[in-house]
Amino acid sequence: MIQDEIIAQADRYLMRTYGRFPLALVRGEGAYVWDAAGNRYLDFVSGLAVNALGHCHPRVVEAVHAQAGQLIHCSNLYHIEPQVRLARLLVENSVLDRVFFCNSGAEAVEAAIKLARKWAKKRYGPERYQIITALQSFHGRTLAAITATGQPKYQRGFEPLPPGFRYVPFNDLEALRDAVGESTCAVMLEPVQGEGGVNVADSDYLRGVRVLCDERGLLLILDEVQTGLGRTGRFFAHEHYGIEPDIMALAKALGGGFPIGAVLAREEVAGAFTPGDHASTFGGNPLACAAALAAVQTILADGFLEQVHRVAGHFRSRLAELQDRFPVIREVRGLGLLVGAELDAPVGKAVLERCRERGLLINCIGDSILRFIPPLIVTETEVDAAVNILAAALAAESEGKS
Ligand SMILES: *Cc1c(COP(=O)(O)O)cnc(C)c1O
Repeated sequence: MIQDEIIAQADRYLMRTYGRFPLALVRGEGAYVWDAAGNRYLDFVSGLAVNALGHCHPRVVEAVHAQAGQLIHCSNLYHIEPQVRLARLLVENSVLDRVFFCNSGAEAVEAAIKLARKWAKKRYGPERYQIITALQSFHGRTLAAITATGQPKYQRGFEPLPPGFRYVPFNDLEALRDAVGESTCAVMLEPVQGEGGVNVADSDYLRGVRVLCDERGLLLILDEVQTGLGRTGRFFAHEHYGIEPDIMALAKALGGGFPIGAVLAREEVAGAFTPGDHASTFGGNPLACAAALAAVQTILADGFLEQVHRVAGHFRSRLAELQDRFPVIREVRGLGLLVGAELDAPVGKAVLERCRERGLLINCIGDSILRFIPPLIVTETEVDAAVNILAAALAAESEGKS
């Protein structure tokens, strides 16, 4: 199909849940994607942090190919070797002890919520169920996950929402301390709020939250769906802070592009789930786990995270140069290759459009925050190319021409 036909049929047959750009992407390789009209783009969106290894990474392609010819699905009524191997790899490279596999970030969050409630009821009784989350957070789109999400725009129209959630301003330890009550069982946070505007947790804050949770007997759930698996230059973002979660949600980058999510927990917490408590038909199926095993092994290979850290440093210094040239850039922030640039004017979408015309895909949060989520395999040369396009887009925007 030609691009216009794909777009027309999307409009005819799909539910209108997405505001899509007028592009149909048909092929990807490394940090580049091609649309159906044959145009090439440098991809600084990476399928929203999913394509951490770029597009069609050879190790992931080979693993999917091999597993697809052997066993695609069999259900969790049986033992699954790739699932066991993936669980072991995650446990051996984290501070947590057991894994439950699902298919998305929202499902991982949902499992984390259920596990925290189950644990708290067993330990403290039926009145302990409340989970405190942050304003501007994002935890996914199921009913429980939008309720956990501290942004009314995701909740409006879907009431009644499940009870048992409370919100506090991010990076405000005193507000959290004041919010903890009789019914609180857990605190759930993102180390960097991705969808909420690339807001990085202060180091004192996350450490303080850990101490507070210990003092009050609360679980600390970290939603590392976006920040986990190398995105910030460490395997998990919480490693930057020197703290350990009790429960952690993962998804996005886990499968190298293939849908898979996971929730991990400490032994004692994981023990709250007993057979029959939670399940997923597709969760941890052989094909998803084979893809994820290849992806995680690649991220954990020698030198990979050092390279992410180095390229991230280069990207930040190039953006700092742009900030000197273009006063419209108010602030550049982020951790590793999860980077935001807040603009002084609501021109984010216009700048994004100008980048796209010049062959660079970026993301925009609201009207004024540009978000850059390049694949972790991006090179300094590709970063330079992206920054040059961004500079041209900003120059054109400030001159008001295309
Ligand atoms: C994307 C995201 C989710 C939801 O993931 P889905 O796979 O879309 O359900 C949850 N939490 C965070 C922090 C995310 O970035």
